[in-house]
Amino acid sequence: MNENGIRCDGRKIDQLRNISLKVGVLKNADGSAYIEFGKNKILAGIFGPRDVHPKHMADSDKGILRCRYHMSPFSVTERKNPAPSRREIEISKVIKEALQPAVILKDFPRTVVDVFIEVLQADGGSRCAALDAASIALADAGIPMRDMVSACAAGKVADQIVLDVNDEEDKEGQADMPVAYMPNLGKVTLMQLDGILTPSEYKKCLETAIGGCKQVYEIQRKALMEKYFENGSQ
Ligand code: ADP
Repeated sequence: MNENGIRCDGRKIDQLRNISLKVGVLKNADGSAYIEFGKNKILAGIFGPRDVHPKHMADSDKGILRCRYHMSPFSVTERKNPAPSRREIEISKVIKEALQPAVILKDFPRTVVDVFIEVLQADGGSRCAALDAASIALADAGIPMRDMVSACAAGKVADQIVLDVNDEEDKEGQADMPVAYMPNLGKVTLMQLDGILTPSEYKKCLETAIGGCKQVYEIQRKALMEKYFENGSQ
């Protein structure tokens, strides 16, 4: 960060990267979305509610949510092994847990809603960008939801709390805090912290991330509205 508080990619400390979001991009999935979050490029596709395989995973009281976050071999500078890594398994789990409070699956017993996330290009904050795409893809699939899930990270770089940490800041910075938030219910569904913060920095970082989530929510809403009006199905 330079002496004027301008970050390595030219942003101010409280500025999000550019986000572009498109809903309904895959013909064969029940719901889908494509997000460009800075240099992150991520596709999310939804199938379901449909029969659960293997059958022993089925819940006779409600539908279940499954999530797979996967990075393509060409998504990072060195070829990534296409087999799921420990990191991808962990991120699949935290994304599922962040979406779970928003989806209402009680009317779909013995079924599954599958969320497939494919990271085509990664640039730091891919779990948040993936969550943003997955959440509107679920809405696109017509899955009943209590609220949207909007995600954004904040962090500490050069002793300052900054919004939306990019890859370089993630690696060189002092802390990274990905947050997912349900903006209408005012509830946090994911909060992770990599790094060390004082209690006051922690509070500011969380508030900054939630502020970012609220900005992301407006972009998600607009992307859904665009599809809604494009199809003329009011
Ligand atoms: P997030 O993408 O949610 O910030 P991490 O903090 O684990 O998750 O990763 C930060 C960034 O590190 C990723 O967005 C990606 O740019 C990079 N990265 C992750 N895995 C690899 C990998 N196997 N090889 C190279 N870069 C990677």
